[in-house]
Amino acid sequence: MADSASRNVIDGNVLAAKALARFGVTHMFGVVGIPVTSLANRAVALGIRFIAFHNEQSAGYAASAYGYLTGLPGILLTVSGPGCVHGLAGLSNAMVNTWPMVMISGSSDQKDAGRGDFQELDQIEAVKPFSKFSAKAKDVREVPDCVAQVLTRAVSGRPGGCYLDLPTDVLHQTISESDAEILLTEAEKYRKTDSIVSVGSSEIEKAVSLLRTAEKPLIVCGKGAAYARAEGELRKLVESTGIPFLPTPMGKGLLSDTHELAASAARSLAIGKCDVALVVGARLNWLLHFGETPKWSKDVKFILVDVSEEEIQLRKPHLGIVGDAKRVLEMINKEIKDDPFCLGKSHPWVEAISSKVKDNVSRMEAQLAKDVVPFNFLTPMRIIRDAILGLGSPAPVVVSEGANTMDVGRAVLVQTEPRTRLDAGTWGTMGVGLGYCIAAAVASPERLVVAVEGDSGFGFSAMEVESLVRYQLPVVVIVFNNGGVYGGDRRNPEEVTGPHKDDPAPTSFVPGAAYHTLIEAFGGKGYLVGTPDELKSALAESFSARKPAVINVIIDPFAGAESGRMQHKN
Ligand code: ADP
Repeated sequence: MADSASRNVIDGNVLAAKALARFGVTHMFGVVGIPVTSLANRAVALGIRFIAFHNEQSAGYAASAYGYLTGLPGILLTVSGPGCVHGLAGLSNAMVNTWPMVMISGSSDQKDAGRGDFQELDQIEAVKPFSKFSAKAKDVREVPDCVAQVLTRAVSGRPGGCYLDLPTDVLHQTISESDAEILLTEAEKYRKTDSIVSVGSSEIEKAVSLLRTAEKPLIVCGKGAAYARAEGELRKLVESTGIPFLPTPMGKGLLSDTHELAASAARSLAIGKCDVALVVGARLNWLLHFGETPKWSKDVKFILVDVSEEEIQLRKPHLGIVGDAKRVLEMINKEIKDDPFCLGKSHPWVEAISSKVKDNVSRMEAQLAKDVVPFNFLTPMRIIRDAILGLGSPAPVVVSEGANTMDVGRAVLVQTEPRTRLDAGTWGTMGVGLGYCIAAAVASPERLVVAVEGDSGFGFSAMEVESLVRYQLPVVVIVFNNGGVYGGDRRNPEEVTGPHKDDPAPTSFVPGAAYHTLIEAFGGKGYLVGTPDELKSALAESFSARKPAVINVIIDPFAGAESGRMQHKN
């Protein structure tokens, strides 16, 4: 006769949910269906918040951004086959941005592998190029180990995407509760994250000596430094040494854009003329012109601080320091404290940067001051900037995507707090918008979320406005509606030939699309605006309501153009 413990059996769904809850998961994003619906319900029953999306792509983008914002792996749950393939968008985005994420997909019955089962796919093979580690639980007894391993690996070393495969038969296999408890306890051993890489004091001394003797030093801070929560140490370094700093797009806000040593408005001068650049948590990739001439001076000495040794080996900087950004900056500050130095406002380099910043800012402000109607990009962006600044602290999380909308937004919107800007990122991923909004709203519930999106970017994930309403998230989505990708039909009439010449241009959408009515279909608030007063009033109302809203801003379809640096590629 069976004893009472072995009669208390649980299945793989319950065990997976228990393991997730035990190992610290509090939120999951995903789309339920065969075979993972029960897993989602079990997770909810154990106190995990499951945010249900319409599409795994958006849910995956949400999971990736959640990982960045919280430092904990963002979890995506998908169905088998096509669900897993859709989820790859999020997983790859996490990998490329170096954000911690775990995609968990159900998969078809193991006994039917290779026989054309429902939604069959070799998912372990499919995720390989897009993940840093994957595990498949081939038996229910392996579930706790696999869950613990993927969660730990996602945040270890250089953060990234991991994958967990849960076959249907494993989810339905049973195990006694007492055995499950033993396995869960044993799996704790995987929960140890990497021991902190020790940073050599000689490297720190070299870095400080380079900064001390530089004539034109610069500090570049990226989203790796934001992920490391290095803002306090960064502020100390910048303010004690008087060295100007330049944030990358998502590094914006580590120190306020309004800081007197912010060099963003003198970017070309700063990177073109600096002789020593301390680059913290940012790759010398396309966003930083590969660290090469003509944008950078050929003699610039890079000091690269990155948690990834691989990254340092790839870039071969003058000095590489492998380590956590916050820890390395702390050590640099300590080293400087023994023999402090400060450039001061009258230092020729600081003076040159600050006078260039002043010139460029006043030129930009003159442009922004004009109320141009029909709207160009600048007028509504200024109004949005001012409304956001009017909110004070905590500053909202700004989500931005699009071509012109993102470029203009990056220059005009002011970031005052760390990790409050999410954009298309390292991969230039379009379609991240609503997923990022939802992630930000659940990861930072104290903050309002404001998305500033092109109409094309919005379209990728627009159906998720229903999710905003369903969960009543404080998200205001502002759509810059110029009727297409880049804008309306900008083709030269001579180019338009052939049997389909009367089709709309590949770049154009229905002019004047009523995007605001999409959210109204679900009970959210929509606004259609075309003038400064209408926009100001919609922003004031929606920001104070802190309820889901879409503001459809009609922009002149011929305003704006492809970002200068990308034009030659298109
Ligand atoms: P950005 O887009 O802001 O230029 P990147 O994504 O190119 O930033 O670079 C971020 C870098 O930060 C990556 O190379 C990553 O390995 C690194 N990184 C991630 N976490 C940390 C950390 N805790 N400390 C230092 N570097 C980190």
